[in-house]
This record gives sequence, structure tokens and C-alpha cells, in this order.
Amino acid sequence: MPDVQDRLGRPLRDLRVSITDRCNFRCTYCMPRETFGPGFRFLPRADVLTFEEIARVVRVAAGFGVRKVRITGGEPLLRRDLPSLVAQLASIEGIEDLAMTTNGALLARYAWDLAGAGLKRVTVSLDSVDEDTFRLMNGVGIELSAVIAGIDAAAAAGLGPIKLNAVVQRGVNEEGILNLAEFARGRGHTLRLIEYMDVGESHGWMLEQVVPAAELLRTIGQRWPLEELPAGYPGEVASRYRYQDGRGELGLITSVTAPFCQSCTRLRLSADGKLHTCLFSTGGRDLRPLLRGEGGDEAVQAELGAIWRSRSDRYSEQRAEWKPRSGGPKVEMSYLGG
Ligand code: SF4
Repeated sequence: MPDVQDRLGRPLRDLRVSITDRCNFRCTYCMPRETFGPGFRFLPRADVLTFEEIARVVRVAAGFGVRKVRITGGEPLLRRDLPSLVAQLASIEGIEDLAMTTNGALLARYAWDLAGAGLKRVTVSLDSVDEDTFRLMNGVGIELSAVIAGIDAAAAAGLGPIKLNAVVQRGVNEEGILNLAEFARGRGHTLRLIEYMDVGESHGWMLEQVVPAAELLRTIGQRWPLEELPAGYPGEVASRYRYQDGRGELGLITSVTAPFCQSCTRLRLSADGKLHTCLFSTGGRDLRPLLRGEGGDEAVQAELGAIWRSRSDRYSEQRAEWKPRSGGPKVEMSYLGG
């Protein structure tokens, strides 16, 4: 099957698969407790794709040129028997890179099984290594030591190179970025600092809360001189910098101040089987009727191809003058998987 391109000439290369909308954290910028409290109605089990259905979509997507699959959530480690999904996805022809994004709190328990099943690498969300700030930002007071144990277990299991993602919010955790960088340098992991983004509607995002990447780069570079590196591959999300003292890399994800939509090759599958063509989506196209209907994989193929070919998303570039396309609110990050 020929590779497919969207209306801006972007090929489809990456599929991010959210396998649950549930999470054991309540990060203030993603799943604030005020919205995602005890009474919140998560997706009913019957609506959530089975591992076999997920594997079918990934197989079809691989036929269109997808080479990299990232498993996300909510928190993917909450989904039972995850190694068996990993084994299914790792065996799909064409998938060269199988990664997972996790908050790391359960990683120490599963790292070896996931590596054994074929997972290649993990990205761990780590917004601070200052205990109080960390607990504040995860919204449930989970200890930092649980996540550090997960990171170390993943490293021991060979799930690297490990990336540590930190969403930086003004007045919340920007004071701690040097400690974060020191932690990552000390363990040989790549820290990626993410400009706080207005994904979804439940976080009350304001531009003033964004710490521009240029400022983060200056702060880190004053302590440890850096030099810019070229992108590792087309469509790479982070801009990369090498520490001149040889202690690894730093990444910056600059969706607000330096959007990268022109090279965006990412498609997202939500846990209930909807395809979303942008992180700032206001609605996805439901594959379940096709996956559970008579049409077989040909029907899924036709639909996925049509969705990508008609794609023209570039929200971050248009942020300033954003007008809702389909009138609905933006879909929540915890549902889309970041
Ligand atoms: S805003 Fe949408 S189109 Fe732009 S880089 Fe992000 S996901 Fe891609």
C-alpha cells in the first residue's frame, strides 16, 4: 500500500495509541481533580477497544507508512495484561519503534515484563524532583521515590534511551528545572522540557503561565553550555541540544512559541476507537462500527486513508486566531494521550 500524505503533504509515520482514559494521577495541567473527581464517568469497558482491535488498527496504519507506535493513556500501566498487547504490536510488520509514555509510578513492577514482550523504550513524565512540587503537580500526593524506582527499573531492563518529560508552568515548577536537568544528567537520561499547552478545556490555561523555551534554554545553558543538534528524524517533536561536557542531551518541546505543525506526522487513536488528527482535536472519527462490523480491515483501511488524506490540522500555528472547527470543546489530554 502506498504511503499516504495529508493535505499539507505530511506523511503518516507515528500512531499514538491511548489504551485507557483512566489515571492514578491527577496532574493539574491534564486531569485536575476538580473535573476528574470521584464522580467522573470514565469510558465504560464495552466502549474500550480490545487488544485485538488495537492491533488491527496498528496493522492497517503500518500499511500506510506508520513506523512508530507510542502506547499512552491516561496511564497505560493501569490496563491489565499490557505485556500481551505489547507482544502483539511488536510482531506487526513495519513497526520499527514501539514506545510507551507513563507517569512511572507502577513502572518498577512491569518494566522487565514489558521489555521481554518487545517494548523498545519509555518516556516518563517527571515534572519535578523537588518532593513537594512533585506531589502538588501529580494531584494525588504520590511520592517521588516511586517514580524514580520506575525510571531505574526501566533503565535496568534496557527500555532506553529514556526520556523524561516535564511540563513547565510559570510559578509552579520552573524554579526546579536545574535540579531536573541535574537528575537527568546524573542518570544519563534525556530531559525534555515542554511548554505548557492548552490541550483540552479543564485546566484554565493562560499564556502567562507558559515559560518560553528560549528562557528555559538560557537558564540551563548558563549552568551547562549547550550546542544545538539537528532533528533525529523528520517530524521529531523536540528540538535537541547536546551538553558540551558530553553529559547527554536536552530536548525542548515548543508548541506555543515555535510550533512544528509543518512536520507533524502523528495520528492518535483514543481508547474508545476514535481517530484524532491533532492533539488539539475537537472530535475524532469512530472506527468501532468498522472494527466491529462486517467490513473487515478493508473498511478500516479505507476510512483511515480517507481521514489522513483530508487532514489539514495546524492548530499550534493558528492558536492566536483559533476558531472551533466543529464547535465542540477541545478533547481532553487524558483521553488523547498527549
Ligand atoms: S498542533 Fe496538531 S498539527 Fe500541530 S504539531 Fe500538534 S498535533 Fe500536530
